[in-house]
Amino acid sequence: MKTEIDSIAGETPGIAYELIIHRLNGSDDNAPRVYIQAGLHADERPGVAALHYLIPMLEQAEADGRLLGSLTLVPHANPIGAAQHLYGEHMGRFATGARTNFNRDFPVPDDNGVRILDSASAAVFAERRLKSRLLELADRCPIVLDLHCDDESVQYIYAPEKLWPEMSDLAACLDAEAALLWDSGSDRAFEEAVFEQMTAQAKDRDLTGHCVTTVELRGQNDVNAALGKKDAEGIYRFLQGRGVVAADGKPAPILRDDFVGKPIRHINMMLAPTGGTVLFHVAPGDRVEAGQMLAEIIVNPGRTDGTVAILAPQSGYVLTRRIRRFIRMGDNLIKIIGDAPVAPHKGALED
Ligand SMILES: [Zn+2]
Repeated sequence: MKTEIDSIAGETPGIAYELIIHRLNGSDDNAPRVYIQAGLHADERPGVAALHYLIPMLEQAEADGRLLGSLTLVPHANPIGAAQHLYGEHMGRFATGARTNFNRDFPVPDDNGVRILDSASAAVFAERRLKSRLLELADRCPIVLDLHCDDESVQYIYAPEKLWPEMSDLAACLDAEAALLWDSGSDRAFEEAVFEQMTAQAKDRDLTGHCVTTVELRGQNDVNAALGKKDAEGIYRFLQGRGVVAADGKPAPILRDDFVGKPIRHINMMLAPTGGTVLFHVAPGDRVEAGQMLAEIIVNPGRTDGTVAILAPQSGYVLTRRIRRFIRMGDNLIKIIGDAPVAPHKGALED
């Protein structure tokens, strides 16, 4: 494995960010090339833990001659966001200087559909140069994994509908509990931008064998050695199944019996109707019925009319909930995959 360190210049004299890039060389030019990154939202660490365990496994495969495809791994994809703190609190999701979400507004390809903004361009914010560099690194890789997490959550993945059900092998290997399928990108999340790049480059627009996904490795605090190893092993099994690492004869994992795979238009994003202290009555992974109490928000403690009840708008599956227990009116409170579609949806990620 070879390691390079890219320098992303900051906007002011004396500031630069280091982007660590590991490259492993496969022995078979026809095997798929792979790109994996973690920590694009710099406050989401389960993917970093997974790569911590996956990188030595892949190095060993390379040393043993079992690595067929080549890989590019970026375990800290966002050194800019990693460095942002305000009064002791980490701010890893939005670029505070540029006022953008680190996983939205990725650069648009040029007319060839394949080349993106030159990451060396001087007259753009560092966040913009970082985004274009990440797209360059993922360029011409038919398998691209972007490792994220949610607030409190089961493990789930996003996938372009065009790559489903082929990508269910990833969900099975990861032991994921759900998948959200999207068909119209609009926010230029990394996954959308890569899929656009992939589609433009695919011969005859045939996307067989391709995979691009935002993997939500559970919740923000689900960072420990056991889960990191499990996720690393899951990704490794997936890479074996796709012919990136030589297979070992073990049977391919299958999807869980209770797996929930739905188009993203089935998402009910429940917003807090009032501010207050949250008491959840359900947790990620629960099945709920229409009208069931999901949470109460305490507005006026100790008074009989002091709480506001949040009820399930339809039957479905609780995917995620807020990590904080004090909430503002309008904040996302809980995310349910409804049994019925909710509304047409634009974009790969719902928020
Ligand atoms: Zn994220």
